[in-house]
Amino acid sequence: MKAAVLNATADLSVQDMPDPVSGPGEVVIAVTLAGVCGSDYSLYNGKFGVPLPVVPGHEGMGVVEDVGPGVSNVSVGQRVVIQPNFACWDCDLCRSGLDNICHEKVRLGIDINGVFARYVKVPSRYAWPVPEGIDDRTAALAEPLAVAAHALKILSPGEGDRVLIIGAGVIGLLTLLLARLHKARVTVSDLLAEHLALAAKMGAHRTFLVGGGEELEPSSFDLIYETSGAPSGLATAIGLAAPGARIALLGLPGEAHPVLTTQIVRKELTIKGSMIYTDEFPGVLELLKSGRIDPTPLISGVIGLEELDSAIRNFHAPNRIKVLVSLPGEG
Ligand SMILES: [Zn+2]
Ligand SMILES: [Zn+2]
Repeated sequence: MKAAVLNATADLSVQDMPDPVSGPGEVVIAVTLAGVCGSDYSLYNGKFGVPLPVVPGHEGMGVVEDVGPGVSNVSVGQRVVIQPNFACWDCDLCRSGLDNICHEKVRLGIDINGVFARYVKVPSRYAWPVPEGIDDRTAALAEPLAVAAHALKILSPGEGDRVLIIGAGVIGLLTLLLARLHKARVTVSDLLAEHLALAAKMGAHRTFLVGGGEELEPSSFDLIYETSGAPSGLATAIGLAAPGARIALLGLPGEAHPVLTTQIVRKELTIKGSMIYTDEFPGVLELLKSGRIDPTPLISGVIGLEELDSAIRNFHAPNRIKVLVSLPGEG
């Protein structure tokens, strides 16, 4: 099969590889669409420190090509989306429903070969059938949508809550769509006017350009989702949080930034981390099927596998939101 292989840091090429073979409890999926994500950019630039070569990519949907012995939840020919973090299901964390932070977690496209390939092999419990009525492009956004859905499960907005979403990237914009379903009043902030224009189109009540000369009013938000991963994100959120407010952290800053904890105490803030997802995939697929949200305006381009290298290199181009890779051979 053709696969995009990261042979060394910043060295990605499309190569021929053996097709994966499904073992017991595993399925091989013919990938139709695969999303390019910030963690692919980090992996490409050597931030994960994992052994290479590896086929990157973890956001994928496709069609079941082959099922191994003992697989009963999906069958050959079925459309599926992939939940790309495989927990051990045997540790205390997994047993208490925290499989998202399992220490033995295997990450598709980081620890093992991922979806930027014609075929990918996954444990069958991590292949979720796509209901009729969801098109391929919409289904390809299920994984990042599950990330946003987990944050809204951890800290849920009430009707009329003043919500701030810091960062109008993919996760921020999907968080916006979900917060609007809760009838929250949503402000979205970002450094890029292009991202904010999309946030306005996707239902933000207000957008705020960071560095545009104005400031948001201190202590004026009931619930803040930090999705930017900027090192200063938490300090910003603490300043903007109203007394009694809640802050969800989704971003993963790569460096430390000082935080004055006084305001956390004085305003009695709740701060929670939100790491990927646990059991969100079925609900996310039901939501997409219902048509109550449309995440497809996030898709800023669909490319071929040969263009993946330049897409990752140009990951931070201003007009880019979510780029999907369309695999050769799909209809
Ligand atoms: Zn991702
Ligand atoms: Zn575990």
